Amino acid sequence: MKGAESIENSVRSTTATACAKQPLYGLTLAELQRVCAELGMPRFAAGQIARWLYRRAVGSIGDMSDIALRHRAALEERYTLGVSAPVRVSTSTDGTKKYLYRTSEGAFIESAYIPDGDRATLCVSSQAGCRMGCRFCATGRLGLQHSLSTTDILNQIASLPERETLTNVVFMGMGEPLDNMDNVLRALEILTAEWGYGWSPTRITLSTAGVGRELRRFLDSSSVHLAISLHNPFHEERAEIMPIERAYPIAQIADLLREYDFTHQRRVSFEYIVMSGLNDSPRHIRELCRLLNGIKCRINLIRFHKIPDSPYFSPDAERMKAFRDALTARGIMTTIRASRGEDIKAACGLLSAEEAKD
Ligand code: SF4
Repeated sequence: MKGAESIENSVRSTTATACAKQPLYGLTLAELQRVCAELGMPRFAAGQIARWLYRRAVGSIGDMSDIALRHRAALEERYTLGVSAPVRVSTSTDGTKKYLYRTSEGAFIESAYIPDGDRATLCVSSQAGCRMGCRFCATGRLGLQHSLSTTDILNQIASLPERETLTNVVFMGMGEPLDNMDNVLRALEILTAEWGYGWSPTRITLSTAGVGRELRRFLDSSSVHLAISLHNPFHEERAEIMPIERAYPIAQIADLLREYDFTHQRRVSFEYIVMSGLNDSPRHIRELCRLLNGIKCRINLIRFHKIPDSPYFSPDAERMKAFRDALTARGIMTTIRASRGEDIKAACGLLSAEEAKD
């Protein structure tokens, strides 16, 4: 038991890595067709396997009842389902749940399940740790352990006990999604394809610190919503808290976004963690308006979650409202994101850092 956390469950440890079989979960339809060809199965069986994996949440290969017995046996010889349960879950007093998973390479990652009225959002991780080094982020302190496979990314959805209640998925957990582009794009394909989960892309948001070289590829190959971690509109000040600014300045990211249409289905938003006295002055408001001029967007303000040994401070509610109202008055739609799960360390990276120490 760790501190005041309410640990609801301690589920079985995931030891699938001991097995040399390959996971089926996380394979695209084209890859499943190749599996079927290798095993002498009919091509249409790939669509059946995809349905069992992504629509019916099947518990084992043996339960894929519309696939011939001999083909199921051949699949079981070489493949495993690839779904593994969380190793721990903490529940906040506000209903937010933080799940901890062991990845196929033995690291720890986190997902946050956030119910809110008739919505339920899952915040998923794309990497174990992160190499972007943002100063305000617990995950950044871990450094990059490894990028997640498509299986590990989607397992956070597949093994979620509340899977059937999910309305939205956000790639805002541990890691920089655009630093694991191939696996994230495959996960997005599986989530949105008719043969996969069949979700509308409008149910999914990918959040990035702004990896410029991959951002255009992402915008051209996917139509899910985009969120940019902004946090400061001034180059030098942003570089102080987000080293990526030195490689990909936010002004260049804004120029790139002006080339795309965010007026129809796809939306872009800017995440802005408000740190008291650091990025919430009238000067910052003026520069934000100048930077985002010509981009149809919204700003989501997030109150800084204090992390251990951090020099930054959380603003009070009044200061948050004043900042929001000033931006709204200047024509930028701005909302304050409700803080959720602070009692269970909802800022990503804190649980995994503790687990890794044990
Ligand atoms: S805020 Fe995001 S990009 Fe920055 S270190 Fe944390 S996980 Fe990485």
